[in-house]
Amino acid sequence: MQEQNDAPQRAPRAPTRLVAVKGMNDILPPESAQWEWLEETVRRLMARYAYRNIRTPIVEPTPLFVRSLGEVTDIVEKEMYSFVDHLNGEALTLRPEATAGVVRAAVEHSLLYEGGRRLYYMGPMFRHERPQRGRYRQFHQIGAEVLGFSGPEIDAEVILLATALWRELGLEGIRLEINTLGQPAERVAHRKALIEYFEAHQDLLDADARRRLHSNPLRILDTKNPDMQALVENAPKLTDFLGDASQRYFETLQQLLDSVGVSYRLNPRLVRGMDYYNLTVFEFVTDRLGAQGTVCGGGRYDGLIEQIGGKPAPAVGWALGVERILELLRECDRTPPPPSPDAYAIIPDGDDIPMGPVLGFLEGLRGSGVAVQMHAASGAQRGSMKSQFRRADASGALYALIFGPEELARGEVSVKTLRGEGAGSQFLLPLSDVASAAVRLKSRTLSE
Ligand code: ATP
Ligand code: MG
Repeated sequence: MQEQNDAPQRAPRAPTRLVAVKGMNDILPPESAQWEWLEETVRRLMARYAYRNIRTPIVEPTPLFVRSLGEVTDIVEKEMYSFVDHLNGEALTLRPEATAGVVRAAVEHSLLYEGGRRLYYMGPMFRHERPQRGRYRQFHQIGAEVLGFSGPEIDAEVILLATALWRELGLEGIRLEINTLGQPAERVAHRKALIEYFEAHQDLLDADARRRLHSNPLRILDTKNPDMQALVENAPKLTDFLGDASQRYFETLQQLLDSVGVSYRLNPRLVRGMDYYNLTVFEFVTDRLGAQGTVCGGGRYDGLIEQIGGKPAPAVGWALGVERILELLRECDRTPPPPSPDAYAIIPDGDDIPMGPVLGFLEGLRGSGVAVQMHAASGAQRGSMKSQFRRADASGALYALIFGPEELARGEVSVKTLRGEGAGSQFLLPLSDVASAAVRLKSRTLSE
């Protein structure tokens, strides 16, 4: 912060420039159009699978995350934006993920009273991490949650939903990795074996691993430290501790995926960051984004609803990282062209143009579905025709509407085709018949 109590007699200094918080990004046009396109694609797809939208607050009580994510997780240990509401002393946190909030809302509003629910959300999440490519402090997730249904066919459904999204977006090179975490009792036995194994190799553990050894040894398997890879590779595998039911559940899921042609890789080391997962866990990963290659992660979390105070009910879901998906779309050259208006209204400089009829005509066109950008400049200083045509060109519009005084006096507007087939040709449209004008202007769309 700058000096706060400048002496009043000193000459005023230019105010310090305010910039966005580190790791939190403005999303500006034309890039924001890619976000809108992604969001629309998701909405359409969710409707096809009968998932309904849920919107929960960005701020939640801190204990919600501590209780649901688990105390010994990266998020709760060091990534949460937590603060005390100075008005009432309440401990609050900017949501680092949305599953906890969705489950809280479902319990609070008895959403599971009449059976299960299929829900989806989109929105910003907050984690205090080191900003780098694909890793931000405010980032965005789109997530799907199915509450109240168990069974591998539901796990398969959410996996298929994500796979369909990649297909719909035209994304390639996304691999699916799956694993099972079994049930809590099975994990206890595995955990004991893991602790014994790592204790026997204490000297090979890094500081993080040593800290987690007794609190969350499963997370050691998730280490990114290359020096520990061999150690982790040979650690006891949870799969060897699974009972029949868990084994069968996992096998059925694999058979279902096989039968619908979804390919996957079994990754026995796949554990998810959060404590609340059981049975199925999965990630979608790509090699095209460098170190931040996980674009989507999820799994089953049958214990969470009860943990948050609801009647026990199973659940499964996933969350994808919007920034990473958008970057992958750019890598695959799959971003849509930036939007452009159909027509750009050019208004000659000066006071002699009756703007009322011009605005009225443009409103009529828009009402009939034509996207029109009106040339704007301060006052009547609209600039030369040449500079207005330059703007019209830059807008990407197919047509320029030229509201010259003579044409207006005759009740007409002159239209010039700016690009594509017929570029340079000109024709007149009557102002009195806005419906036919709209049809004419919409009759040809530009294919770039
Ligand atoms: P990572 O291992 O990359 O830290 P995570 O296991 O913490 O991921 P989840 O909590 O499962 O991630 O979130 C789901 C998805 O959200 C991730 O797969 C990723 O695409 C995205 N994501 C997570 N953290 C960030 C972040 N800080 N910035 C951008 N995207 C993120
Ligand atoms: Mg993380």
